[in-house]
Amino acid sequence: MGKYNGPLCRLCRAEGTKLFLKGNRCITDKCSLERRKYPPGQKGARVRFKKSNYKYQLREKQKVKRFYGLREKQFRNFFYKSAKQKGITGENLLRFLELRLDNVIYRMNFAASRTNAKQLISHGHIQVNGKKVTVSSYILKVGDEISFDEKSIKNENIKLILESITGLVETPEWIIVDTEKFLGKINNLPNREDVSLDVEEHLIVELYSK
Ligand code: SF4
Repeated sequence: MGKYNGPLCRLCRAEGTKLFLKGNRCITDKCSLERRKYPPGQKGARVRFKKSNYKYQLREKQKVKRFYGLREKQFRNFFYKSAKQKGITGENLLRFLELRLDNVIYRMNFAASRTNAKQLISHGHIQVNGKKVTVSSYILKVGDEISFDEKSIKNENIKLILESITGLVETPEWIIVDTEKFLGKINNLPNREDVSLDVEEHLIVELYSK
């Protein structure tokens, strides 16, 4: 499936959950999911799938892909990597996705959304352990330090953006943030309960195990 260019709020309504794709708007009563709690479609017709249904498994996958902003191929690669690891595949998958650089930047309140975090990374504003990283899917490890490039932090536009998003999302305990210095550090690996998305990941595992 190609990149989705339509209205972002429509994606949340389709999944029936907040995917936090529009920064500040998502935490206000302007969030369209707060106002219209039904999936998009003809006159807002309610569509519900049985949990055993293939479509329901597909929906859970779409939800995770959209939440983290991934394309099918990237998602599939993460899935196979997760299946090869010890432990529960679904939990391994979510841990990988949480440890992506773009997700961590967002959860540290360094970007208004994961999409915004991807832009900051691809434009060369972000460093890991003092070295520029331009790949959003970079998987962080315990002990890694994340920071802004020195020039970027002096950029007035970036300063304004950072001020406007202070405290937008709650930073999980597995990431330590120094808001004064715009620094972050991975303190430990995220657990299943650290994932803020309401998802039944075992359905995704069932989908790929067919
Ligand atoms: Fe729109 Fe954000 Fe609400 Fe989703 S969470 S419906 S993107 S405002």
